[in-house]
Amino acid sequence: MRVYYDRDADLNLVKGKKIAIVGYGSQGHAHALNLRDSGVKDVAVALRAGSASAKKAAGETLAVMPVAEAARWADVVMVLTPDELQGHIYRDDLAPNMRQGTALAFAHGFNIHFKLIEPRADLDVFMIAPKGPGHTVRSEYARGAGVPCLLAIAQDRSGNTQDIALSYGAAIGGGRAGIIETTFREEVETDLFGEQVVLCGGLVELIKAGYETLVEAGYAPEMAYFECLHEVKLIVDLIYEGGIANMNYSISNTAEYGEYTRGPRVIGPQVREELKHILDDIQTGRFAREWMLENQVSQPSFKAMRGQLAAHPIEEVGKRLREMMPWIGRNRLVDRARN
Ligand code: NAD
Ligand code: MG
Ligand code: MG
Repeated sequence: MRVYYDRDADLNLVKGKKIAIVGYGSQGHAHALNLRDSGVKDVAVALRAGSASAKKAAGETLAVMPVAEAARWADVVMVLTPDELQGHIYRDDLAPNMRQGTALAFAHGFNIHFKLIEPRADLDVFMIAPKGPGHTVRSEYARGAGVPCLLAIAQDRSGNTQDIALSYGAAIGGGRAGIIETTFREEVETDLFGEQVVLCGGLVELIKAGYETLVEAGYAPEMAYFECLHEVKLIVDLIYEGGIANMNYSISNTAEYGEYTRGPRVIGPQVREELKHILDDIQTGRFAREWMLENQVSQPSFKAMRGQLAAHPIEEVGKRLREMMPWIGRNRLVDRARN
């Protein structure tokens, strides 16, 4: 597996280009601001008319343009709108307007891999996919660090796509941590699997199940919140810093013994079997079809589930307890008024 660093990238390549960032959400604000701070002069944020994000981008003195106009202007169009909208945006605003021989870029391979977008043959098509939330892509860059990125090429018409992608990846901070070469297929399948099984789906369900078990057994919700949610970060920081043994070095022997003997009962054979089914849903495109169907009918169950989660007692207890720990909210990663 090849890993590239700043020394392998020519930052001047991207500095000489006009870059349009479509969308100013989690990834969009991070790419636009990191490019700007890396010395790329011509960065524009492309938004719908009346977009609520326009004020946030303009507040950072970034140029804001309608999507069709940005597509005519740009040498590189990075598409950072929600995945489920990218097909329409490409068809309506990008395909009819992008100049011959320019580049179309993504931070996730969903639309290309599942053929929801079939790009014009004259375009270069690449992916720079940061392996972290957009707010972290920005905060790490701002403190002189970076989030690792994946690089993949779907179309190379110019013969130069790899160099442009590397330059772009370095400009958003990826070259400090490592830019790993992969394919659209590998990025999509591992990304979906990781977020469904470990990072988002598995972790959140485990937190809720642990919390509910304690509360149903009569323990105080505050205790359950600290044990099952708050402490997750303290443990993950230790794992992030030095691996699992580093965390085990810091916890008590009692905790470590519980980990070895009880962990495999939590993630038993049934769960492991289910992980294979979930991977199969991803590989066969079944998950992608289900998600696109949900979007065709305006996301009714998605919105209902989001509402249910927001009303979960762990969210209310947490809000109250976090107010007692004001340092948690200082230098917030997520500030909805700004990013
Ligand atoms: P987001 O939901 O945070 O932001 C989307 C932005 O797109 C918003 O600013 C919204 O106003 C704008 N938008 C919506 N419709 C638009 C339109 N028609 N025209 C122009 N702008 C429009 O999105 P996100 O989570 O940053 O995801 C963007 C891409 O990055 C996706 O491909 C996603 O898979 C990928 N990605 C995201 C993360 C992450 O941390 N969230 C991590 C890696 C990759
Ligand atoms: Mg993802
Ligand atoms: Mg404990």
